[in-house]
Amino acid sequence: NGSNGKAAPAAGVVVPEIKFTKLFINGEFVDAASGKTFETRDPRTGDVLAHVAEADKADVDLAVKSARDAFEHGKWPRMSGYERGRIMSKLADLVEQHTEELAALDGADAGKLVLLGKIIDIPAATQMLRYYAGAADKIHGEVLRVSGKYQGYTLKEPVGVVGVIIPWNFPTMMFFLKVSPALAAGCTVVVKPAEQTPLSALYYAHLAKLAGVPDGVINVVPGFGPTAGAALTSHMDVDSVAFTGSTEVGRLIMESAARSNLKMVSLELGGKSPLIVFDDADVDMAVNLSRLAIFYNKGEVCVAGSRVYVQEGIYDEFVKKAVEAAQNWKVGDPFDVTTNMGPQVDKDQFERVLKYIEHGKSEGATLLTGGKPAADKGYYIEPTIFVDVTEDMKIAQEEIFGPVMSLMKFRSVDEVIEKANCTKYGLAAGIVTKSLDIANRVSRSVRAGTVWVNCYYAFDPDAPFGGYKMSGFGRDQGLAAMDKYLQVKSVITALPDSPW
Ligand code: NAD
Repeated sequence: NGSNGKAAPAAGVVVPEIKFTKLFINGEFVDAASGKTFETRDPRTGDVLAHVAEADKADVDLAVKSARDAFEHGKWPRMSGYERGRIMSKLADLVEQHTEELAALDGADAGKLVLLGKIIDIPAATQMLRYYAGAADKIHGEVLRVSGKYQGYTLKEPVGVVGVIIPWNFPTMMFFLKVSPALAAGCTVVVKPAEQTPLSALYYAHLAKLAGVPDGVINVVPGFGPTAGAALTSHMDVDSVAFTGSTEVGRLIMESAARSNLKMVSLELGGKSPLIVFDDADVDMAVNLSRLAIFYNKGEVCVAGSRVYVQEGIYDEFVKKAVEAAQNWKVGDPFDVTTNMGPQVDKDQFERVLKYIEHGKSEGATLLTGGKPAADKGYYIEPTIFVDVTEDMKIAQEEIFGPVMSLMKFRSVDEVIEKANCTKYGLAAGIVTKSLDIANRVSRSVRAGTVWVNCYYAFDPDAPFGGYKMSGFGRDQGLAAMDKYLQVKSVITALPDSPW
């Protein structure tokens, strides 16, 4: 109890066995061409967890070649959707069977709560796989209404080789969010996981092989963004890049695609999502939701509810209860089932979050709780709440990606709609109210890809997910995500003897 007490992760940390640390290319685990490796660290202690083969351009070239061969000559794009779906379902079963190990890997590599890995991340990943396994044999074209003596129809064809570049905050979900629809479409992929969290992706490559995914269809090349990542985005033989990460890197990826072969790009980027609580809300419920919205996964969530707008009638009560709730959010070892929040993913993020907290203080916001490291060792930060935040402050505009809530008071619906929309981002928003009219009006007025009403983080594979504005474009999840991995071809046939 008491997040502001010291977490004590160092004694007796459980470190899972690490089986896969090499690149996965053409169905084999191989060393990097350069022989180089990089360290992935345990955020609970800062200690090295594993040395992982470090992909660079030469390795990415090999991985793309293997994906290209598998696409042009292999079985995967040519087998029936039903068969692809069966193999994907088998992969889902295997992932499920290895839940304990996989949740522990993400726990040690990313500082994610192992219990939640088991009950949220891994089940979400397998659900995603099964959802798209079911979609694989339902990829339809259309019959076209063409004028004159012609007949027309469309074919949906896989785009080809897809480069997948993902961040570290949800290593498992991000992998399957992109890979599942790509596989269903009949594409082949080269995945570059984040350098902070390469371990589970390598494990998934291994399981995919066991499930019967042919060699070359899934390749995994851990490495750094400016080297391995850039080699993928500038590659002349990659047809599309599916990216999740920061807005800054998203911009680099578009530039790189434009300068190379004009490959397709889809970007899921940052956010600064508002959670808006109206006077008629149940305050306890709203406080709980706001705590989850910002402190879940230590605030390392692109849709984190980092700006909490509370209407003036309940503001004082809300603030008091929110502070208590934050102080009862237990910081500690992610392997301990009583922990609510583990360490930030690495030293850079830890320092970045603390810097934002300093900005908040120096710009005149009032720090009500938290604001400091929560342990002597590892990258733990206290759940932090600022009030007296104004829209022009850095902490109200920029994505902190850490456990820092900015609480703001508002009066009217018009005012809060304007404020909710006043950042460059548009990923998600939350609304807490009992009024249908307010909920509907605000849902339609907020420029964001997802709006949650009286809930937060309610994800489903069937609900398209993505950004407005500088939160990116393209959608993950839902059948809409298939569009990123399919080309549409029109076939027009002359019908000279048609009676009409
Ligand atoms: P990041 O953009 O630095 O890194 C993401 C990935 O891009 C990593 O794999 C990294 O190696 C790679 N990369 C970095 N530079 C590259 C380059 N020049 N070329 C190609 N690839 C490159 O982001 P991060 O700090 O790891 O992750 C946090 C960010 O991700 C946050 O801004 C967050 O909002 C965003 N995010 C968005 C979503 C979403 O769905 N919209 C989900 C999770 C995280």
